[in-house]
Amino acid sequence: MQIFKKKNESSIPPRDISAEKSVAENASDSDAAKSAADSDEENREQPFIICDSLVKIYKTDDVEVMALQGLDLEIRRGEFMAIIGKSGSGKSTLLNIIGALETPSAGKIIVDGKDLSNLSEKERTAYRRSTVGFIWQRATQNLFSYMSVLENVEAMTYFDHMKEKDRREKARRLLETVGLGDRLDARPNQLSGGQQQRVAIAMALMNDPKLLIADEPTGAVDSRTSAMLQEVFREVNRKLGVTVIIVTHDISLANRVDRVVMISDGKISTEKVIREEYREKMNELDASGEGSHEEYSVLDKAGRVKLSDEMLEEAGIDSSRVKVEVKDGQIVITGIER
Ligand code: ADP
Ligand code: MG
Repeated sequence: MQIFKKKNESSIPPRDISAEKSVAENASDSDAAKSAADSDEENREQPFIICDSLVKIYKTDDVEVMALQGLDLEIRRGEFMAIIGKSGSGKSTLLNIIGALETPSAGKIIVDGKDLSNLSEKERTAYRRSTVGFIWQRATQNLFSYMSVLENVEAMTYFDHMKEKDRREKARRLLETVGLGDRLDARPNQLSGGQQQRVAIAMALMNDPKLLIADEPTGAVDSRTSAMLQEVFREVNRKLGVTVIIVTHDISLANRVDRVVMISDGKISTEKVIREEYREKMNELDASGEGSHEEYSVLDKAGRVKLSDEMLEEAGIDSSRVKVEVKDGQIVITGIER
């Protein structure tokens, strides 16, 4: 499990590291080169995103809502993951904090080595523009209706120093990547909901983000369109190496990612990790998500673990007190008669 990972345990395959090391060692014997290689290695071992005991409290006139209640989560660079959970469980709040649209009330959020809670307003804006691409649920939130598809994508870099020709070329290429190379001159209202979301993905990629975050991007489209959008996200993740985080209700989408985490009551409760053999199969053919993931419960830093209603029912535990013992190296929880 991620949060208890030993410091030196790497999330990238060991062969990558040794390859890197031997290159550095062959290149130069000096201590400086070695320590540079070491710190490089350290950077690569660090998770891309670290959520450390995140708390978010929303205060309105008379009520306080604790949207995140000490959430811990680590995300690897290049990971393709989904977040699921009931409405109101804190999914959007988490995405907004990762995207620096909101600041946590307590806890730490580190993305790509940057502590987001310590940024100035200017730095936050720069972070949002350079590191993150956003995709919202309703396609209309993502697009300018009075511009063509191509212009919408180009508009994302209007404030950058970029030659007009290069900008156009890049926008065109991204629209091809998302399968809209033949609709460059269309207006958003001439496109289907799924096509509009493809435009939104191209727009989000225009600034070369390291991270794509999508809040229920397939919430307003039918299941066939949703499947096509999944494919686009997967392509983007695989071809461009962009880390992708999707909040979704769509279980078929959740089954196609590397990892699915579930949030309940503002904390991560369970996570499913894709099985290695399935990952290989998925790369070869268009497999369905059935039986593809292994499910784990998440033990947080305070030693808490959430037991689902289903588990409790199956074990016949219906009391609020339980006996917890270690037996033969396993933790056994038994209900206590009232
Ligand atoms: P989800 O995306 O999982 O449906 P949210 O993160 O949007 O959940 O919301 C988590 C909780 O925080 C909910 O109870 C919601 O009502 C509350 N909340 C979210 N945003 C605000 C806000 N701006 N002001 C007050 N309460 C909010
Ligand atoms: Mg939401």
